[in-house]
Amino acid sequence: MTIGLLKGANKPGHKGWTTEKCIMCATTLDFFHGYELKNIYYCPKCLSNGIKAYFCAADARKVHYKCPYCKSDLKPYYE
Ligand SMILES: [Zn+2]
Ligand SMILES: [Zn+2]
Repeated sequence: MTIGLLKGANKPGHKGWTTEKCIMCATTLDFFHGYELKNIYYCPKCLSNGIKAYFCAADARKVHYKCPYCKSDLKPYYE
């Protein structure tokens, strides 16, 4: 039974955030690596197409907050 462990790793109140990686540099985006949700950006269009288009703050700035794949505006994960 590992359900208890899984629950502990994913606390309620954070919109069910699971660990994701920056699609550009593969940095792990989560609290345990010093990332706060407000520093994480995502592309809603790519996500709706099943692409895990999450970006770290540095890469989001690098692409001028536009998705390099579909040219949509990136959105901060947590506003
Ligand atoms: Zn990155
Ligand atoms: Zn996109």
